[in-house]
Amino acid sequence: MDNEMSYGEDYKAIPATSIGSGVGVSVLPDLFCYTVQIVNVCLFGDEESNDFVLIDAGMPNSAEEIIKMTEDRYGVNSRPRAIILTHGHFDHVGAILELINYWDVPVYAHELEIPYLTGKKSYPEPDPSVEGGLIAKFSGLFPNEPINITGHVKALPEDNSVPHMPGFRWVHTPGHTAGHVSFFRGKDKVLIAGDAFITVKQDALYKVFTQELEISGPPRYLTPDWKAAQKSVEQLAKLKPSIVVTGHGQPVSGEELTKGLKKLVDNFETVAIPDYGKYLN
Ligand SMILES: [Zn+2]
Ligand SMILES: [Zn+2]
Repeated sequence: MDNEMSYGEDYKAIPATSIGSGVGVSVLPDLFCYTVQIVNVCLFGDEESNDFVLIDAGMPNSAEEIIKMTEDRYGVNSRPRAIILTHGHFDHVGAILELINYWDVPVYAHELEIPYLTGKKSYPEPDPSVEGGLIAKFSGLFPNEPINITGHVKALPEDNSVPHMPGFRWVHTPGHTAGHVSFFRGKDKVLIAGDAFITVKQDALYKVFTQELEISGPPRYLTPDWKAAQKSVEQLAKLKPSIVVTGHGQPVSGEELTKGLKKLVDNFETVAIPDYGKYLN
């Protein structure tokens, strides 16, 4: 069997939290968003249904909390049909081994993200030298070695459909990582953007009490390809989302979203791309 799962060798708990930690929000009747320390996970699927999925898998050591949040919403012993990943960074797969073991469910990710989920490729080292305040400096601690969930992870379908998320399609949004994807539903224009862009000010990302809202580019210390990241944000803006849930920060809708996203697209070079850092040029 190829089911020997493991976290990366540099896997560890990160002592960061924010005021939103442990808080869940019903964004839509079928979309629930919950903050684990500083990262968001989502549950997609009506509350009465047992046909639901988990999107992203939280921070290291958060499995119990994610299981509890899931059972609070769907009932004791309920489990998702699958775990769907926007990308494989440590803060989005932090509890995935325990969750796979507990629920025995498949994981879906973009084909280009799979090497980072099967122990074959490490993410680039976080860049503590990048412009971005305290959090960038402390990002050197962040795990970047690949996890290994070979035998449990599958590529998202080539037709852009998303398993167990009818009406959604996945959109390839590389830059932050090579196989980063976002999920979009045309009917109500809801967008789950992962870290393609975020809704919290970069400098405030890991501040405990201030999660200042600002539509910002992808987290700087972990973004190696700014050209692709810029194109991805433009592509998402063209979809004209009406509600967005991102990997970090609160859900945003309406004018705050429209204006903020336009501002980000129009000024990407100056506001998103850092002035200095090792992944520039
Ligand atoms: Zn990320
Ligand atoms: Zn993230």
